[in-house]
Amino acid sequence: MVTVIVFRRYCRKPEAVRRKGLSTHGHQRYRCENCKRTFQLDYTRRACQPGIKEQVIDMALNGSGIWDTAPLLRINMNTVMSTLKKKPKPSAP
Ligand SMILES: [Zn+2]
Repeated sequence: MVTVIVFRRYCRKPEAVRRKGLSTHGHQRYRCENCKRTFQLDYTRRACQPGIKEQVIDMALNGSGIWDTAPLLRINMNTVMSTLKKKPKPSAP
């Protein structure tokens, strides 16, 4: 088993993660040994990439509408709507 060091998306601790197969589009998936969540470093869909949802929320808080946000970030308007409707999760320390 190969162990790689990456910056994890969810618990953000610099510990080792393990490779965990491939996605349906052939991207490498990884599993965090601490929280047992799986993630990828490369995504096919732009809306799944880390940081896009935070950008949507920041733009909404700064007064940008859905019609401004979606084309600027190159994601679908339904993605912007669903991101804004979701309850925010508490961030990891
Ligand atoms: Zn984790």
